[in-house]
This record gives sequence, structure tokens and C-alpha cells, in this order.
Amino acid sequence: MSSTPAPPPSGAPSTPASPVRRTKLPLVARRLQVLRVEDLSASMRRVALGGPELAGFRADGPTDHAKVWFPPDGRPDDAPLLPSEVDGAWVAPDGATSRDYTIRTVDPAAGEVVLDMAVHAHGPAGHWAAQARPGQQLGLLGPKTTKIPPMDRAWYVLAVDETGLPGVQNWLEQLPEGPDVHVLAEVGGPEDEIALPARAGTQVTWLHRGTAPAGTTTLLADATRRTLQALPDDAEGWLWAAAEAMVVRAIRGHVAERGIDRRSCGMTGYWRLGVANFDHKSEDAQA
Ligand SMILES: Cc1cc2nc3c(=O)[nH]c(=O)nc-3n(C[C@H](O)[C@H](O)[C@H](O)COP(=O)(O)OP(=O)(O)OC[C@H]3O[C@@H](n4cnc5c(N)ncnc54)[C@H](O)[C@@H]3O)c2cc1C
Repeated sequence: MSSTPAPPPSGAPSTPASPVRRTKLPLVARRLQVLRVEDLSASMRRVALGGPELAGFRADGPTDHAKVWFPPDGRPDDAPLLPSEVDGAWVAPDGATSRDYTIRTVDPAAGEVVLDMAVHAHGPAGHWAAQARPGQQLGLLGPKTTKIPPMDRAWYVLAVDETGLPGVQNWLEQLPEGPDVHVLAEVGGPEDEIALPARAGTQVTWLHRGTAPAGTTTLLADATRRTLQALPDDAEGWLWAAAEAMVVRAIRGHVAERGIDRRSCGMTGYWRLGVANFDHKSEDAQA
């Protein structure tokens, strides 16, 4: 018997297409003003940005994200250092700092885009969020792509830490009536919970890590495993996980154990314990 697999019939794709609809967007760098800052919890701040450069901004999917560019270290009232396009490549000036943030909402009529930013003491973005005030400036590059995942599945499991809460809010607003949605959200304690959009058929489980540092517990991975085990075998669903990278890696293991097709999942390490400016597209992040 030949060990060479037969070629796919002519015209047939060799791998099944991703069910996520992706639309490329023109990449634009924008300098925006902080219009409002609001505390959503003890560790999450909502920052509304606006200004003339917001024109044409678009983000349609629940997990669409952009690179946020910050002012120089220690000078939060200065303008952000933004990249510029040189011969088709984006080049950042020396000392520029950027991190990925989910677009929580875009309101062209009000002229604002909203980010929900976790406050923590470990990196420049976490620090910036802690001191954010109206009148300051941030830069935005992107989104590069807007992605619409399938919205017609029988169930959804959304497994996150604080950094995935903006995406959870978007999912809850965008999912149609019908599917059962299980939100599993790990935060420090009750003071770190945020109000989530109300949606029939949604079960929210808050997991409190207490004094354990973020990214060091198995609470979220364990809860995801239990939730996946209890789901019906005969209904196709969608799992979305966004949290510390090693926690997401553990979740990938539970997905494999449950026999869930990886094409029915979006699982991304949003940050990595002990790593500054973690690249969520690196091999390490996808393993
Ligand atoms: C696609 C995508 C979308 C994201 N959306 C959001 C969002 O909407 N809101 C949001 O708050 N975050 C979001 N994040 C996560 C955010 O980009 C990271 O947390 C980022 O590392 C924060 O930058 P920093 O400068 O504070 O820390 P860094 O300089 O990157 O890291 C310095 C140290 O801080 C630690 N650290 C980083 N983040 C955290 C954290 N959240 N809690 C505790 N320790 C941390 C690191 O392990 C490292 O030791 C998203 C990430 C991705 C990839």
C-alpha cells in the first residue's frame, strides 16, 4: 500500500476552511485624546478616546484588537510615541511602547472608542491605566483585521481573566438569543468583578484567586475542564479563552482531552507571567 496520501479531488480544499470571517482593514496610526475615565472595578478602568483622527475607525468582531501606544516612560502627559509607515513597513521611534488592547466599543456618532484596561503594578500599560485622566493622549494602530466568529453554535464557553473581560462583554452583546453561554472569569476577588451585559441563557462563574498573584492558579483551567466535561456530546459549540499564556496552554490540553475540534476554538495567551510585551502570535503563545 502506498504511504503517500491521495491528493484532494481537484478544486477541493486540502484543509477545512476556518469558520471565522476575516476582513482586512487599512492599517492607520491615530493619535487620540482621553475623553473619560471610569472605574469598572478595583482593577479595571474604562478609557474613552476620541478626536478628529478617529474618523474611519472600525472594529466589528467581539475580540478585535489594536496596538495602543503610550507616552514616554514617566511622562504620561506627553504625546504618545507613534510608529510611522516607511516603505510599507511600520517603524516605531526609539523608546516607543505599545501593547494590545481589545476594542470594547466604537461609537462613530459620539466620536469615541472605548478600551477596558486592567490596572496592575507590573508593566507600563498597567501603570498608565492606574493614572489615566481626561486630556491625556494615547495612540492606536489597527485593528489590522476584523474577525467575526460563528454566532450560531449551540453553546459557548468564554474563559478569561481580567484581560479577557472586554471580549466577554462584546460576546454577550453580539451573540444572538438561543445558545447557552458559560462565562468563566478569574479575578482577584469580589471587588474585581465587573457588571456584565445581561443576556438570557448566560451562566456567569466568577473565580477568586484571593492573594495568589494573577497567572499562578489553576482555577480557570480547572473550571474550564469541568464545564467542557458537562457539555452535551451531540451539539457543536465554541470555546474562547483569553488569559495568561500558561493558563491558556492548560486549557488547550483540556480541549484536546474532551475531543473538541481546535477549529471550534479561539484560544490566545494575552500575556505571560514574567514576560514584558509578550507576543501573542509567537509559537510559544500558540503551543
Ligand atoms: C489580543 C489581545 C487583546 C488584549 N486586550 C486587553 C484588554 O482589552 N484589556 C487588558 O487589560 N488587557 C488586554 N490584553 C493584555 C495586555 O496586552 C497585557 O496584559 C500587557 O502585557 C499589559 O502590558 P504592561 O505594559 O502592563 O505589562 P508588560 O510590560 O507586557 O509586562 C510586564 C510584567 O507585567 C506582567 N503582566 C502583564 N499583564 C498583566 C496582567 N494583566 N496582570 C498581571 N500581570 C501582568 C507580565 O507578566 C510581566 O511580568 C490583551 C492582549 C492581547 C494579546
